[in-house]
Amino acid sequence: MATPTHRCTCFIISSKMLRKLADLAPTEAERHCLLDQAEISAHLRGQRSMAPATMFGVAALGDKQRSVYDAHNKSTLPGKLVREEASAPSKDVAVNQAYDGAGATYDFFREVLKRNSIDGKGMRLDSTVHYQTRFNNAFWNGQQMVYGDGDGKLFLGFTGALDVIAHELTHGITQNAVPGGLVYEDQSGALNESISDVFGSVVKQWHLKQSVEQADWLIGAGIMAPSVGKALRSMADPGNQQVTWSGDDQPKTMAGYVEDGDVHTNSGIPNHAFYAAAIALKGNSWDKAGPIWYKALSLLTPNATFADMAKATTQAAVLLYGDKSAEQHAVQAAWKVVGVA
Ligand SMILES: [Zn+2]
Repeated sequence: MATPTHRCTCFIISSKMLRKLADLAPTEAERHCLLDQAEISAHLRGQRSMAPATMFGVAALGDKQRSVYDAHNKSTLPGKLVREEASAPSKDVAVNQAYDGAGATYDFFREVLKRNSIDGKGMRLDSTVHYQTRFNNAFWNGQQMVYGDGDGKLFLGFTGALDVIAHELTHGITQNAVPGGLVYEDQSGALNESISDVFGSVVKQWHLKQSVEQADWLIGAGIMAPSVGKALRSMADPGNQQVTWSGDDQPKTMAGYVEDGDVHTNSGIPNHAFYAAAIALKGNSWDKAGPIWYKALSLLTPNATFADMAKATTQAAVLLYGDKSAEQHAVQAAWKVVGVA
């Protein structure tokens, strides 16, 4: 019998964050609009992906195959095909950002981690832009990436940050690389979110050729209106509202763990563990810390906890660098920093 795969409709921001932003909205009309979007996000998240991933084309092994669709402000997916692999750039900035971001993410996984696309077999990368009207979110729906334009007041469009694009694409990788996928609730859900932030940030660092010291370790810098904040989350300092935004409620360690917290809240803990490991290992995050975290994915189960991730990354460090290696010790110490294990 085939193992059921846990797929998620996984968002870059939580409906809880949208509700908090609604409280800050200057007008009643904007508040209602945000509350409606929070409802839509919660509803979409509850939906199960029915269509098998194979309904989307599987490109020949070794090929990078991107398709970008335009939803024309509707909610039907994928929408109208507007750009394909190797076709000329569009006049539409969002189309090109989705295309280029998917390309940079594909190249990272292919060149650095030797993984051929989401399923490891060259699966086509499908993205839809202009989803709904002024939609304040981006998500992976189990099959493809979907981006809203933002309302222009709180959010400026979700294709504007490479780490957001890599975050969404990584949800697809996690769904395939973790045997059975990761359940999108509780600690396994927070891990799912964290893994997307980890590779979101690593892909950005790789693209910009930034060392662990040079990187900003922010998620979503550039997609928020400056009046709202600088970024969605910080891996270096989760919950520091000075470097993110006024509603950032991420804990940095288990001391701040939120029982029944949103997956985007408790993800601050494993995010910071990755940061601590990468800083300890020095150099570039994609040299050692990234490959260790990636290898750990295959050692997880659908309901994995933070402690399971600590164990899996330690085991991965041993497999890659040897027992009692400096890398193993760095990973173990990083999880101690956040109070896991
Ligand atoms: Zn996510």
